[in-house]
Amino acid sequence: MINQEKLKRALILNVINPEIGGVLIRGRKGVGKSAAVEGLTDILPEIEVVKGCRYNCDPNDPEHFCPECREKQEKGTIERVKKRMEVVKLPLNITEDRLIGSIDIEKALTEGTKAFEPGLLAKAHRNILYVDQINLLEDNVVDLLLDAAAMGMVAVEREGISVSYQSHFIFIGTMNPEEGELRPQLLDRLALQVEVETIRDVEKRVEIMKRMNAFSENPLAFKSQFRGAEDTVSKKIREARKLLPEVETPENILYIITKLGIDFNLDGHRGDIIMERTAQTNAAFEGRKEVAVEDVILAAEMALPHRMRKQPFEEEKFSSEMLKKLVDSYS
Ligand SMILES: [Zn+2]
Repeated sequence: MINQEKLKRALILNVINPEIGGVLIRGRKGVGKSAAVEGLTDILPEIEVVKGCRYNCDPNDPEHFCPECREKQEKGTIERVKKRMEVVKLPLNITEDRLIGSIDIEKALTEGTKAFEPGLLAKAHRNILYVDQINLLEDNVVDLLLDAAAMGMVAVEREGISVSYQSHFIFIGTMNPEEGELRPQLLDRLALQVEVETIRDVEKRVEIMKRMNAFSENPLAFKSQFRGAEDTVSKKIREARKLLPEVETPENILYIITKLGIDFNLDGHRGDIIMERTAQTNAAFEGRKEVAVEDVILAAEMALPHRMRKQPFEEEKFSSEMLKKLVDSYS
């Protein structure tokens, strides 16, 4: 897999299974990091939401309804609508109020929780939260994001009113390592990492130039050219979502995952769990009900780079070939 393909796969796997826990995309300026994330919009599946809900409530999960949907449910006025998942972009200069929400004090006296204006984290619920230049975020914003990502919810207390809402999102960040490193807590929170390099191959570069020219001449015609391929991916994502609960990991594969965790000297068990979830999701994407070694290698390639504390073959660069060799040595 070339790196752009690996990046697309990492994003797709997270869309199929948000439980994986996000992607960090590293690469220098202009390698197409943001384009890959923004391009997701065209392949995202539809989800069911409660019509008019400001918190993107899931009509199939009344237990987690927001107060407004709970009220509607009592009156029997819940309406379901389908809408496409969205990429919600978090601006670097976002304020705390815009991120978690704010209360209109005058309204609060008469309208209670309805005076609460939900923040971006409500909009991101069941969608993708995308942070470009994630390594340049302010510390207070990072802390709020980490809390929300860990709890899957946001609790706000202002002016004597407390509001909490669900916020399960697919966390995607991009960064240029030349602009500084990422805080370790945030690095650990993002399950997978993909490094995107500048393409050095002449033919591929010519192809990219041609595509960019074609796009700027006629964006609509350019996009319709890829419609067929997008629909195929979109369909594969829908099917994988259905298949995922049936995917099983055989015992010998669990041993391979654990041995990798030990050989790369991972802290704790989170890395093992991420590898298994990612491998299962990849099997589902490939239409299989059983995890295979190749799924584990792909998962390890994305889950290990920012977690490993040592390399088993010190003389060799971390790569899928090296992982294959290592896994072969286990049997
Ligand atoms: Zn709601």
